[in-house]
Amino acid sequence: LLQLYAPLNFLGSIYSSIRNALVDLEHMFGLLEETVEVADPAAPLPIAARLHDAPPVSIEFRDVHFGYRRDREILHGVSFQTRPGHLVAIVGSTGAGKSTISRLLFRFYDVWSGHVMIDGHDVRDYRQDDLRAAIGVVPQDTVLFNDTIGYNIAYGHLDATPDDIERAARLARIHDFIISLPEGYNTRVGERGLKLSGGEKQRVAIARTILKDPRLLILDEATSALDTHTEREIQSALRAVSAERTTVVIAHRLSTVVDADEILVLADGLVRERGRHAELIAQGGLYAAMWAAQDTGTDPQQEAGREEETF
Ligand code: ADP
Repeated sequence: LLQLYAPLNFLGSIYSSIRNALVDLEHMFGLLEETVEVADPAAPLPIAARLHDAPPVSIEFRDVHFGYRRDREILHGVSFQTRPGHLVAIVGSTGAGKSTISRLLFRFYDVWSGHVMIDGHDVRDYRQDDLRAAIGVVPQDTVLFNDTIGYNIAYGHLDATPDDIERAARLARIHDFIISLPEGYNTRVGERGLKLSGGEKQRVAIARTILKDPRLLILDEATSALDTHTEREIQSALRAVSAERTTVVIAHRLSTVVDADEILVLADGLVRERGRHAELIAQGGLYAAMWAAQDTGTDPQQEAGREEETF
């Protein structure tokens, strides 16, 4: 019996680590359609996962060339560096390569040449599991499990207490909504339960990420328009989870971009401009043109409060 049990136990632990990884990846990367070709190094470097245990990560892309197919290079030499703890917003038109940058941070693919570095080392120097444990992802559209909303927040964190869950929900600005539901944290959600709006689901994902406490946060902002109230709640939730934590946002909302420590403007497979909002506006280049194209011509700070505001 023991002989039978050992492999089962082993499979169980593989299953649970795969399941935990899936919680984070979800649909952001369309994982199931993609083959994973990357391999762990023979002598991996350690990397701390939680912000509680180590400072926020630094990120650097050094002359990164990459494409999904050999005949089509997407990134033609992307270079940038971020400060630990900063919030970096990546902007650019659809297909510019914004999500590709986040996939490379996660090492879903290896670059053709150049380096993707975290904490001063190439991501290829770490074990994939360790790297992915240090990164939290809030995807555009979070898939909820057919279970309670409390379970959905705690998913992947079996040791989370009801207090931990509530604290995370408060920080993610979803607690008040939850307690307004008939059964509070025990309300069933998902396909067979209560349907949550995109903004609510994203806050559930933020709460989950607060429990994970990763040293790097990647947020893929929803492209769909949000009403002003929802937008404010999400911004506030984002501030809670990104404070002191290195954060990369695939940005579609002006409010995020205006507040970012740094904006990277991606076009033609390169980082064409970088800086803070006011600097880039003053520069009068691509970013300034994107603003002008929103057909506003008024004070951007005021524009940040408008309702349909996506790049
Ligand atoms: P963005 O996030 O800026 O909209 P992406 O990084 O998703 O852009 O995509 C950049 C380019 O790479 C696009 O031309 C897209 O069609 C292509 N691409 C993205 N994912 C894949 C994939 N899995 N296989 C092949 N091409 C892809």
